[in-house]
Amino acid sequence: MSKYDALMEITSRPDLVFTKGKGSWLWDADGNKYLDFIQGWAVNTLGHSPDIISQTLSEQSQMLLNASPAFYNQPMIDCANTLVKHSVFDQVFFANSGAEANEGAIKLARKWGQINKSGAWKIITFQNGFHGRTLTTMSASGKAAFEPLFEPKTSGFNKVPFNDLDAVKAAIDADTVAIMLEPIQGEAGVIPAEKSFVKGLRQLADDNNLLLIFDEIQTGIGRAGHLFAYEEYAVEPDIMTLAKGLGGGVPISALLAKGEFCVFEHGDQGGTFNGNPLMTAVADAVLKAVLSNGFLQEIQQRSKELVAGLEALSQQFGLGEVRGAGLLIALETENINANEIVKRALEKGLMINAPRENTLRFMPALNINSDEINQMLELLRIVIQERVDAV
Ligand code: PLP
Repeated sequence: MSKYDALMEITSRPDLVFTKGKGSWLWDADGNKYLDFIQGWAVNTLGHSPDIISQTLSEQSQMLLNASPAFYNQPMIDCANTLVKHSVFDQVFFANSGAEANEGAIKLARKWGQINKSGAWKIITFQNGFHGRTLTTMSASGKAAFEPLFEPKTSGFNKVPFNDLDAVKAAIDADTVAIMLEPIQGEAGVIPAEKSFVKGLRQLADDNNLLLIFDEIQTGIGRAGHLFAYEEYAVEPDIMTLAKGLGGGVPISALLAKGEFCVFEHGDQGGTFNGNPLMTAVADAVLKAVLSNGFLQEIQQRSKELVAGLEALSQQFGLGEVRGAGLLIALETENINANEIVKRALEKGLMINAPRENTLRFMPALNINSDEINQMLELLRIVIQERVDAV
């Protein structure tokens, strides 16, 4: 019997327990220190335990924790207004996780199809895409490993190859109501949508009376170098979902839509914790920090440094492509097993992630400094050198 046995086993976890975090650094129960380039899976926008979040949680928790979702509260109003002011969307529905926000987006699109498109209900999604782990968002995801699981799934998701406009065109039929994508496929290994593809999707959506849904759960809130990744594409989605970085470490997500698509009627959508003041107060504080003077420009600068450093490593060791945007960057490790690098890096106090066998992903705090990037690059260089020497 181990102390871990009371937890359902849903993944393989290393035998360490984290007890403290600050900025780009984590400490385990034995006092070991780790440089964190995972940050809660691209969640901790301002790093671990930033003062602004501690203060907001403390102040808001003393004022009002939960007034019930059937009533307005001030942080919910403030946060929705901040999101609307700085995006192309008109209204917001707050939820608790990315998957829940995506479920909301799928329901909203189907509702709109019922009202405006003779009951059209099918949604085109993409191979290798990831939208969450509820049954419907697993159904929408294009992850091969999900296919045999939990049958029967929610029907109506037609998965086509990413960056293939002709395949999307061919998949549209009279029952299609929307196209849903991640502007950069994160879990697939940081695969950016091409600009011409996204522009083509917008055109296809306009020509065929379809909604364009962006899942910005991983790319939003500055992660890809703009407040929202759609800005880089100069394309306006009709619906967008956010989570991860929105709460900077606390659980909150959001479904945003342009006014004409906000068609929920009373009873269609809700949830006990949705829009609770504690989480919306934190999200509003995180948004204001990301929107503060120079913050997004700094991300672009750090991104250049990280990309340049990884490209130098790639060149030194004959590795592959460095790609991504902002502080969501991948390095192809070619014939070196990326999981092995992740394991060895952890032993040396560096936390990185391998979304695929031969892909490393870097998603540090958005306020990381140049020195920490250099420390990461040096640790990674040592680990790769050891791997190269071992073969
Ligand atoms: N959509 C994208 C693009 C994601 O990266 C994720 C999580 O990794 C999700 C949805 C699901 O979010 P959550 O785990 O908060 O439900």
